[in-house]
Amino acid sequence: NPLQNDVAGPAPRRQTTQVMVGDIAVGGGAPIVVQSMTNTDTADVEGTIKQVAALARAGSEMVRITVDREEAAAAVPHIRDGLRKLGLTTPLIGDFHYIGHKLLADYPACAEALDKYRINPGNVGFKNKRDSQFTDIVEIAIKNNKAVRIGANWGSLDQELLTKLMDENAASAQPRDVRAVTREAMVQSALLSAARAEEIGLPKTKMILSAKVSAVQDLIAVYQDLASRSDYAIHLGLTEAGMGSKGIVASSAALGILLQQGIGDTIRISLTPEPGGDRTLEVQVAQELLQTMGFRTFVPLVAACPGCGRTTSTTFQELARSIQDFIRLEMPSWKTRYPGVENLNVAVMGCIVNGPGESKHANIGISLPGTGESPAAPVFVDGQKFRTLRGPSIATDFKALVIDYIEQ
Ligand code: SF4
Repeated sequence: NPLQNDVAGPAPRRQTTQVMVGDIAVGGGAPIVVQSMTNTDTADVEGTIKQVAALARAGSEMVRITVDREEAAAAVPHIRDGLRKLGLTTPLIGDFHYIGHKLLADYPACAEALDKYRINPGNVGFKNKRDSQFTDIVEIAIKNNKAVRIGANWGSLDQELLTKLMDENAASAQPRDVRAVTREAMVQSALLSAARAEEIGLPKTKMILSAKVSAVQDLIAVYQDLASRSDYAIHLGLTEAGMGSKGIVASSAALGILLQQGIGDTIRISLTPEPGGDRTLEVQVAQELLQTMGFRTFVPLVAACPGCGRTTSTTFQELARSIQDFIRLEMPSWKTRYPGVENLNVAVMGCIVNGPGESKHANIGISLPGTGESPAAPVFVDGQKFRTLRGPSIATDFKALVIDYIEQ
């Protein structure tokens, strides 16, 4: 019955064990945390400080950096110091593969400076010859009171575990689809590693799990399974999401569905940057995903119609773009001066068809004149017609009204 949904909204958030990463709470009812990752060479201290700062100022609440070799491990404490000098305490996460145990043991200042260590159970597993590597990292985390993310990844899955499950499947009377077995290996890899870490002494309050896949439907299935089989805090992300709109759409589709089902305590939108592109786009997309779904508010939303043959000129697009850019630029200072400004809704509409209606739903909205309409642009404030703007300075006048509204 389509009329039965009187209340629109997501499923209740899944109850998970809360983990503190630096001073940021993840899971256990805390707001869903936005995180991102640098693509600088971590050994380049200045370059990495600059990018972490840009990501943090764009709204990334935690930032992950690659720690792939000795030079990178040696750089980490200097990066932490440099960020502190900029007044940034954003938690730093070290991304370790293969030799993380060695780097953390040989560079204790790096182990101390990081707030969380990411381990990939596909290349630092807990079985056989790799058991000591896994144990070493977990023991260093315990000693330094740091959180750990056990991050399984479809592209670097624990091959021993996968082979074992594939063999069992082949011998079974009713073999499952190969992708289903691979998904099971992802979930088991994360859960078995977490159980081993707990055996070593790392409490649940220090562990976050992830199981990233690049195909949307597999990702949804893997995380649903992971969430139903444990109460660890969960890091959501679609790996190898891709470039441009493809990466944004794939990540939003996958993460949107899981968040709607109450799954996910921290998210990263992994986008392949365009050459020379802005790394902070992944932070903006993550924030917009959480805000459009109603989980959090970060910046005022600008609702704009798509424009059509009724739109008279480029004024409409220019105004929508300039209002959006203006708001993003001013937000850092507005946030301190005008608490709650992030809840503001602005509408910029192209003609009389939906313009007045949509503008009335916003805190402040403008309906520009469409083809054949008189050259007047009514402005609506809190649902009421407030003023009509005319002439070549409509854009500037409307911006001034937005500022007035915020200030009041
Ligand atoms: Fe077109 Fe007017 Fe609708 Fe905008 S509000 S899309 S200009 S009909």
